Amino acid sequence: MTVDIAALEARIRDVPDFPKPGIVFKDIMPLLSDPEALRNTVEALAEWAGPREPDLVLGAEARGFITGGALACRLGCGFVAARKPGKLPWRTVSVKYALEYGLDALELHADAIKPGQRVLIHDDVLATGGTARAKIGLVEQLGGVVAGILFVIQLDFLDGTDQLEGYDVHSLIHY
Ligand code: AMP
Repeated sequence: MTVDIAALEARIRDVPDFPKPGIVFKDIMPLLSDPEALRNTVEALAEWAGPREPDLVLGAEARGFITGGALACRLGCGFVAARKPGKLPWRTVSVKYALEYGLDALELHADAIKPGQRVLIHDDVLATGGTARAKIGLVEQLGGVVAGILFVIQLDFLDGTDQLEGYDVHSLIHY
């Protein structure tokens, strides 16, 4: 199935100066609320991810949970959640990172990934690459193998892929 990427792009809304002046927020809510665009987004993500044979999809809150959960289901994989500090109930591992707009940390349950499991890292947007870099750290701390890093949207002008050198990275839509 060949997905019309321009039709997906047409469902992404630019919100200037959110959450801070100077940031143009890429809002995927119009894409998620359209049944055909949602299905086609998951299909296009699965086309790239499937051949990389992941055991798990790792998504970060919050929008990475939505498309990541749907993608894991479509691929027949499990889903594991990276969350902001203090949100996960069990023992965790943690990594700190820099955002396009601030500093943050991500945690993952210490038993979420078994050594040798292939993990597809997923998020809605690749901006500076700090979040994805942190997720690589979480996967590798637990002995997992990064099977690929996959985004719906990539902001090319922020050079986020510089932080992901040596990994297999793909985005459906580039700005
Ligand atoms: P980064 O760590 O800089 O690559 O930022 C990626 C994370 O921040 C992702 O979880 C995105 O959802 C969010 N994000 C950063 N910049 C934007 C943006 N311009 N529009 C929408 N989401 C963004």
